[in-house]
Amino acid sequence: MTEQITVQLAETRREKPDQSNLGFGRIFTDHMFMMDYTEGTGWHDARIVPYQPLTLEPSAMVFHYGQTVFEGMKAYLTKEGRVFLFRPEKNMVRLNRSNERLCIPQIDGDFVIEGLKKLIAVDQEWIPTAEGTSLYIRPFIIATEPFLGVAPAKNYKFMIIMSPVGLYYKEGIAPVKILVENDYVRAVQGGTGEAKTGGNYAASLKAQELASGKEYSQVLWLDGVEKKYIEEVGSMNVFFKIDGEVVTPALNGSILHGVTRDSVIQLLKHWNVPVSERRLSMEEIAQAYRDGKLEEAFGTGTAAVISPIGEFLWGEEKMVLNNGKTGELSKKIYDSITGIQKGALEDPFGWIT
Ligand code: PMP
Repeated sequence: MTEQITVQLAETRREKPDQSNLGFGRIFTDHMFMMDYTEGTGWHDARIVPYQPLTLEPSAMVFHYGQTVFEGMKAYLTKEGRVFLFRPEKNMVRLNRSNERLCIPQIDGDFVIEGLKKLIAVDQEWIPTAEGTSLYIRPFIIATEPFLGVAPAKNYKFMIIMSPVGLYYKEGIAPVKILVENDYVRAVQGGTGEAKTGGNYAASLKAQELASGKEYSQVLWLDGVEKKYIEEVGSMNVFFKIDGEVVTPALNGSILHGVTRDSVIQLLKHWNVPVSERRLSMEEIAQAYRDGKLEEAFGTGTAAVISPIGEFLWGEEKMVLNNGKTGELSKKIYDSITGIQKGALEDPFGWIT
């Protein structure tokens, strides 16, 4: 796409929020990026406009059959005042993978990144500066055609909205308690687990609600057939350190291709820490725990980067790791990735744009 991106600036800029209490995803910047898709024409009218409500027909297909995809990424302000994006091209590849699964037309990743950079430049003063804060970026696509037939839509909207977000760990990186989910499943082989689409998250709410009621912060998802093999934790990928080796479930068609997951694997290889991607059963984890070989466990994702796991409950069996403290390797990975993201550490991988 070589199309121009037009810019319509907001007449007034809203007041910036208190950086000590940003939370996640409730405050939005002054502008958003938008473009439309029309069958026959393709994507068109790329524009930056003031953040504002949408007008859609009640019959817009996204409301009925959930034809939608999204991404999640962050921009960081370095001490020198430069703006860093972390591996944005990976998010564009994943967005197109999700598009392909949901029968949504492909986007031009380079063009979208160009639009994103322009949007960030317009709203640069919204990037929070306090320690550990960042600008969360949410690209997404919805089917807008007014039609109640079950079919791929002929019209779509692509948008990017942005939200200043707070430090994930207010008192430093801290372990969470995880409930191994034996009833509900997140995804199945042949389903949409590999795509970042709304329905997967709607389907995950029930188990999450039940786990929260038992004081567990997330669920560990098992495979959808035998409920034996580990898939993900909450909306993160999951890693285990067993007897010196780091293991994560192999991408099997129902696991999201996490950008943080890929970065952790690259980092471990760089450090010569043994790491493998393979099928991993809950029984193997429990046995490693009983044998005293389960050294660490952690989730990985854009929001928290690393989320150490302090406890698993699997049926009646409770497993407490590291006395509920953050493992050494988890902390080292966290410090390294966040250090690269905010420009405090060198980036030997070419992750920063
Ligand atoms: N799994 C799921 C289901 C997710 O929603 C996310 C968050 N995007 C992840 C894993 C982690 O992916 P990433 O590291 O790219 O944020």
